[in-house]
Amino acid sequence: MIILMKAEATPEQIEAVCQAIRDQSLEPLVMPGQGSVAIGIPNSLDQRNRPQLDALLSAYDGVGRVMHVSRAYKLASREFQREPTVFTIKGATFGPGYFQIMGGPCSVESYDQYRLSADLVKSAGARILRGGAFKPRTSPYSFQGLQEEGLKIIKQVGDETGLVTITEVMSSEMVDAVAEHVDILQIGARSMQNFPLLIEAGRSQKPIFLKRGPSATIDEFLLAAEYVLNQGNKNVILCERGIVPLDRTYTRNTFDISAIPVLLENSHLPVMADPSHGTGVAKLVAPMAKASMIAGAHGVMIEMHPNPKAALSDGSQALTPERFAALAGELIELAKFLGIQT
Ligand code: PEP
Ligand code: MN
Repeated sequence: MIILMKAEATPEQIEAVCQAIRDQSLEPLVMPGQGSVAIGIPNSLDQRNRPQLDALLSAYDGVGRVMHVSRAYKLASREFQREPTVFTIKGATFGPGYFQIMGGPCSVESYDQYRLSADLVKSAGARILRGGAFKPRTSPYSFQGLQEEGLKIIKQVGDETGLVTITEVMSSEMVDAVAEHVDILQIGARSMQNFPLLIEAGRSQKPIFLKRGPSATIDEFLLAAEYVLNQGNKNVILCERGIVPLDRTYTRNTFDISAIPVLLENSHLPVMADPSHGTGVAKLVAPMAKASMIAGAHGVMIEMHPNPKAALSDGSQALTPERFAALAGELIELAKFLGIQT
């Protein structure tokens, strides 16, 4: 259950509602929003007690509306917010009616490699530049990213080209430093349940690109988004990026395309797809990117490297500049056909 307080509700009125909830041996969860405060009751409530509790709380001063949410996640749910969340970052809009292409290398490797990647991304018609400065690698002996130096390169190239920039932040301590250098904070698949990181990223009020954990259920994914939303940060983009596969012979992960419409049905947040990590195979990226648009995704994240064979990470799934440009062109055409803006 969620109690939406009126915009003008006073702290005393909010506390009175919280106390009334505690008096019922339940835990109130105060969720500050942009306009008004919502008070959630995360406990599962007995169906029979709901009407009584609804009537009791509706009578308190400052209460706007009492809502019943049947899902574990609340702020991320369609029940809580029927209207889709739509927001714009430097002219790039995320949400229904729009399709955003994020392109760039897995890792930032040098200024020259990144600046060239940015020019290629831009000339292909994409608006968003990806690239990791801090890399979550399975082996500690693999390239870990240029780290702080990488952040500076991203900032410089973003400023030079006007592209929207996104990079991964791996720890809560680094949120402020990363947020100073990029437009969107990426929370990687391996960090999806790093709760202190989700909270800190939420507090930063920067747009968050949240990737689904390889073993996460849809509910776990949306509960991770809930951590960010619960900090009053409403600019969250969900990203399906493949789940643990049954068979690694042909793909690195299993790209769960059905997650796209499932997320759209159950959440109001923008949904994107990453067919690069989703499949791990360059030749599978184009068909899965187009399928993502048809499935309703609001954009794709695609790895492209000026020279995939020389890439310091994820070369086997990176598109060449030519293949990236061809795919971006096809996606832009397909979007036009569907009446979607890019
Ligand atoms: C990435 O986008 O570079 C990345 C590491 O992705 P994921 O967290 O989905 O593995
Ligand atoms: Mn990668």
